[in-house]
Amino acid sequence: MDSLDSFASDKLAALDAQALRRRLKETERGPKAAAARDGRAMVSFSCNDYLGLSHHPRVVAAARVALEIHGAGSGGSRLVTGNYPVIGRLEERLAAHKGKEAALVFGSGYLANLGVAPALVGSRDLILLDELSHSCMWAGAKLSGATILTFRHNECDDLRAKLAAARGRHPRALVMTERVFSMDGDLAPMADILSVAADHDAWTLVDDAHGLGLAEDGPHAPLEMGTLSKSLGSYGGYLCASRAVIDLLICRARSFVYTTGLPPASAAAALEALTILEEEPDRRARPILLARRFTQRLGLPRAESAVVPVIVGDARRALDLSASLEAEGFLVVAIRPPTVPPGTARLRVAFSAAHSEAQVDALAEAIARHRDG
Ligand SMILES: *Cc1c(COP(=O)(O)O)cnc(C)c1O
Repeated sequence: MDSLDSFASDKLAALDAQALRRRLKETERGPKAAAARDGRAMVSFSCNDYLGLSHHPRVVAAARVALEIHGAGSGGSRLVTGNYPVIGRLEERLAAHKGKEAALVFGSGYLANLGVAPALVGSRDLILLDELSHSCMWAGAKLSGATILTFRHNECDDLRAKLAAARGRHPRALVMTERVFSMDGDLAPMADILSVAADHDAWTLVDDAHGLGLAEDGPHAPLEMGTLSKSLGSYGGYLCASRAVIDLLICRARSFVYTTGLPPASAAAALEALTILEEEPDRRARPILLARRFTQRLGLPRAESAVVPVIVGDARRALDLSASLEAEGFLVVAIRPPTVPPGTARLRVAFSAAHSEAQVDALAEAIARHRDG
């Protein structure tokens, strides 16, 4: 074996030993939260398709029409020839939805987060990051070259103390957090965060990947990013902000400038999904109602969003629990370090408007049986 392959094999063996190796499993997905593995039908509680819009007939039809007119790919960076009119229409609608002057669509939410922070702050500046922030917020923060300090999860006093101590040494400061935390499902105290940030003339970037359409109450940050691939059921990312900020990002966000524009069919699907999301308040309310039904049945803290963690602790136990549920037809992914802190391996249960009450009750019953049995 050459040194490259032996390096990879050794690393994999170490991951195996800690139950931290990850493997791809072929999974089909259908309407109504249906999934299939190895030809077996399952109910998925692992998708971020919170509103069940990825298979909505109107969303699929919008994508199909765009595909037939514009083709499969956009053909270039949006600054060259990849800027289809449907992307502009989507940006106008996203900006209006968030009450902002403008929006910019990126290739994905990950790419949006890689692009925003480095375009706004640099090596002389300061970033304050909630310690549980998503991996792509960390990646964007590091790419900026700014000094990064973390504050304790959702603790505004810690944020205030750290800003007070460090702000004076840096020309600009950026606070980064998530509106709905992706692995815990809890909500950031946005009003307090925005007021602490404003007191120190720090800008705030909030990641709304799991909030769009579901948990959007409360004040908006000056920089609101998110994804088209969760509640909108499509693919892509966005930032909503002032016209000046968006115009600067068009020039300066490298993950926007140097990459191919979003395929027009993805933008058309997201645009139709946003229309449905705005038309149907009952659909938007349903995932959280189902999540609360679930937390009540299991005696867990009341759900604040469509995401509920069932903390198990040990990585191997989380995998075993997930496998037992899979054997009963429930797809519930085990989340292990480094996605979550060591010792907090968990099942991450994601609720969708497409689930039935009976499916939720059956899952709660199965988890209770395995957890307590
Ligand atoms: C999923 C997710 C992203 C990335 O969005 P993609 O469009 O999937 O790249 C960013 N931030 C958070 C919090 C997420 O959960």
